[in-house]
Amino acid sequence: MVIALKPYVSDQDIKRVEGKVRQKGLTPHTVRGEEITIIGCIGNTVMIDPKFFEVDPSVDRVVHVQEPYKLANRAFHPEETVVDVSGVQVGGDHLALIAGPCSIESYEQVLEIAGACKASGANLLRGGAFKPRSSPYAFQGLGLEGLNILCAVRDEIGIPIVSELLSTEFIDVFNEKVDLIQVGARNMQNFDLLKQLGHVERPILLKRGLSATYEEWVMSAEYIMDSGNPNVILCERGIRTFENYTRNTLDLQSVPVIKRKTHLPIVVDPSHAGGKWWLVEPMAKAAVASGADGLMIEVHNHPETAWCDGAQSLTPENYSDLMKQLIKIAEILGKSI
Ligand code: PEP
Ligand code: MN
Repeated sequence: MVIALKPYVSDQDIKRVEGKVRQKGLTPHTVRGEEITIIGCIGNTVMIDPKFFEVDPSVDRVVHVQEPYKLANRAFHPEETVVDVSGVQVGGDHLALIAGPCSIESYEQVLEIAGACKASGANLLRGGAFKPRSSPYAFQGLGLEGLNILCAVRDEIGIPIVSELLSTEFIDVFNEKVDLIQVGARNMQNFDLLKQLGHVERPILLKRGLSATYEEWVMSAEYIMDSGNPNVILCERGIRTFENYTRNTLDLQSVPVIKRKTHLPIVVDPSHAGGKWWLVEPMAKAAVASGADGLMIEVHNHPETAWCDGAQSLTPENYSDLMKQLIKIAEILGKSI
């Protein structure tokens, strides 16, 4: 953190600000120019709010040169984190292949999709039981009944499950039944939910908020980690831009940026990004090529009659074709499926 003082401040002013720096457990390093004086703060400034210094009448500006997140920060944890999802490793040399329907409709539907996806190489099964819909009149998900269907399919074919938790209400049920708990884009800044997820044993899949910056997203991961759960996987799912031809704009730059700034695994969801099934294949390939630790892809056995997000769902056949191509890209990157 660097504090720039206003021009021509007195010695007394400088001493007062230096005193405030020491009060926060930091060591001031003062450089006096002809007009401007700058105080560098040596020490850990992650937890310090710049406003503590900004309110001083002699302070012009405070610049944070260190990121405001600590636990997720690569600088303090250089090796990549590998998150264990009931035996499936996410991060490092492994590719997490999450596939399944947007929403759970019936046991037969999920069983058919899950069997086909697993045969093509998927190692995690997704399915929404509680759906965060933009319209209150749209299908809201089968709720606990849907979750039980997903669990039954997991037990039947042996594949860990991923499902979205909407509120703290069902947190214990999810902790008991769901292998990887998803926090959706709309809940990325539900700080109460994030804090509560710090107390669960299950790993968390944290999707990027609709218009969240990298820092806001990582700060949300920090909430979960600071509350006691270090097992966070980030998920890029596209962001809002001025473009409205696609549902969202897939920001693949987030993959190398997140990898550089944090040690957490990051997976990409090309389905919710583009909103169109034919965009999924090229964007999934690009995501793996960019270094993503995995993919979340919506697959439906009858996309044309799907209760939710049919337009962006791949058929099991298309998913199988994509997986064959992805294996080759993964090999080049030294990742195994
Ligand atoms: C989902 O994965 O089902 C979903 C609703 O995605 P998002 O939160 O990214 O919109
Ligand atoms: Mn969906």
